[in-house]
Amino acid sequence: MVGTELRFPVISTGDILRESVRDQTKLGTLAKGYMESGALVPDELVDAIVKERLQRKDCAEGFILDGFPRTIRQAEFLDGVFKDQGVETLVVGITVADSVLVRRIAGRRSCPNCGKVFSAVPLPDNQDALKCDECGTGLVQRKDDTAEVMEERLRVYHRQTQPLIDYYKGRGLYVEVDGDRRVEDVFGSILEIARKRREAAGVF
Ligand code: AMP
Repeated sequence: MVGTELRFPVISTGDILRESVRDQTKLGTLAKGYMESGALVPDELVDAIVKERLQRKDCAEGFILDGFPRTIRQAEFLDGVFKDQGVETLVVGITVADSVLVRRIAGRRSCPNCGKVFSAVPLPDNQDALKCDECGTGLVQRKDDTAEVMEERLRVYHRQTQPLIDYYKGRGLYVEVDGDRRVEDVFGSILEIARKRREAAGVF
């Protein structure tokens, strides 16, 4: 993982929200319906999660945000937080055609025990046989990875999240990476971009 390689914590708002739903916290109860329908969780809830998480010690040297910001309002909120903390920003967009994404997501399975994510493309006839190679637990599909919810998530992405590309491009912060390649190659490209950026910013 790029975060491990750079020794940065990876903060995924989707993971934090799924955990809250699983643990039936107040946040989870509020977020569940939105997530299951493929809609975005309201900005105020997600902004608060991120702000709180960024205040922890392990973020002092850097961090990776995954799945945030997803709206212009969230990006503006983040600008405010970063300005206060003097954070250098790099935005990496991993591009994949919708058709490829739909195929990949139909085959995405994860381990409910250790959280490891797998690609089961092509799907075997007996999906019950899919087990985690770390702990042997039967793999499950995310509730929002079904075809109907996926369609809505893509619509939401194009309407609410895609405008962020121009938002960050306009400020010279956006770099695009071709995601329709082997995982190792995508990983290598992102790492190289991050390293160059760190060097240029004199963060070593
Ligand atoms: P992900 O794991 O990133 O695909 O996120 C799963 C779901 O969590 C999304 O479809 C949204 O419902 C919710 N979510 C995650 N991140 C955000 C965010 N930044 N803003 C609003 N909702 C989010």
